[in-house]
Amino acid sequence: MWDVAIVGAGPSGSVAAYLLAKKGYKTLILDKNSFPRHKPCGGGITLKAGRLLNEIGLPIEPVDAFHKEVLVKGFGLEIEVRAGSGEYAIAVVRRDLFDKRLLDEAISEGAVFKRARVLGVRREGDKIKLIGVNETSKVVVGADGANSIVAVTSGLRSHWSREDIILAIEGVSRPYEKLTFMVDAAPYGYGWIFPREKDSNVGVGGMLEKSKEIKRSFDQLASRYEVMRAHSWIIPIGGHDKSIAGKSIFLVGDAAGLADPLTGEGLYYAIRSSLEVSESLEYEEPELEYRKRMEPVIRELKEKRRAAKIIMPRIKFFFKLFVAYPEIAERYMLTSIGRVEFRDFWKWSISKLPRALIREKLGI
Ligand SMILES: Cc1cc2nc3c(=O)[nH]c(=O)nc-3n(C[C@H](O)[C@H](O)[C@H](O)COP(=O)(O)OP(=O)(O)OC[C@H]3O[C@@H](n4cnc5c(N)ncnc54)[C@H](O)[C@@H]3O)c2cc1C
Repeated sequence: MWDVAIVGAGPSGSVAAYLLAKKGYKTLILDKNSFPRHKPCGGGITLKAGRLLNEIGLPIEPVDAFHKEVLVKGFGLEIEVRAGSGEYAIAVVRRDLFDKRLLDEAISEGAVFKRARVLGVRREGDKIKLIGVNETSKVVVGADGANSIVAVTSGLRSHWSREDIILAIEGVSRPYEKLTFMVDAAPYGYGWIFPREKDSNVGVGGMLEKSKEIKRSFDQLASRYEVMRAHSWIIPIGGHDKSIAGKSIFLVGDAAGLADPLTGEGLYYAIRSSLEVSESLEYEEPELEYRKRMEPVIRELKEKRRAAKIIMPRIKFFFKLFVAYPEIAERYMLTSIGRVEFRDFWKWSISKLPRALIREKLGI
């Protein structure tokens, strides 16, 4: 019997396996795929996520590009935001290579990898049976992504509601110069160009409710930027209201619905939640400890979700505000690196609204 069985060897699963194996837990990590495998993703790693990886002892590797400048454009306007000196704003990785390397690190710490599709989990006394793979474990970590079978069969969540889901589509194009976000590329979402060394990852994402428009937006982007090999997948941005942990079962990363509702960033939350699970297992009541540790993270995601509901339908107005007050853009960068709390950023930005509205009315 295993101390911990981790279902899914994406970033959340491999980080959890690395940390737990390092602590001496007898750790099994399972994935239905062999590695390297493709995972639809822009591969953008914010400085906040990169720093967390450094703290854990897993610096980002291999990195395809570090970008210090971020160009945000739309509605005929644009603004360039720079990272602080000696810092990057976003590093870009290829998920196939990045995920493989994290899994290799976990294996070298002693985790055992098995290629197998888990069909579900079932509690049997003090242990948990992994259905379909003939394994049992004292603890199970569900790191099995957006369609988590662990979440559903453990009873932690039955389904996502449509408003909990972002649909994102990505592909590959030639190497562009600037890392760019296009705020007018998709309704209730945005487009991106993440340049890498020899090519660029280009895509769009937006609320699943607008899936037809998002697909149309991607087609437009694809013909404009000559994008090839399109892949689409979902990013869950909710569902953690129910529960992210039950007795000896923990959900992390996309399986727990932990992605940023404003940007779709999921990698930071995948790494963070796995770190918190690995720490929580040292406590007498690990489920309570994990929920407690994740409280501030989930609170921030909920605040972002409320902000997204206000911003997305009025993106043109808010982007004009962003451009008119470059300090808003600069401060936003500070939230994305974890130096300013999102809640403080949002309050401060809203305080700029009355003046902005007057200027808009007067056309100045
Ligand atoms: C198009 C797109 C672009 C994105 N761009 C970014 C970005 O630039 N930056 C960012 O931070 N986030 C981005 N995201 C979000 C990010 O990709 C996810 O948040 C992140 O991959 C979550 O990691 P994870 O380990 O939790 O899940 P995953 O990476 O999805 O890994 C889950 C693993 O579980 C395995 N698995 C699933 N079911 C089973 C089963 N039954 N049995 C065994 N194994 C199973 C899968 O094979 C997979 O390897 C993007 C998402 C999409 C769709």
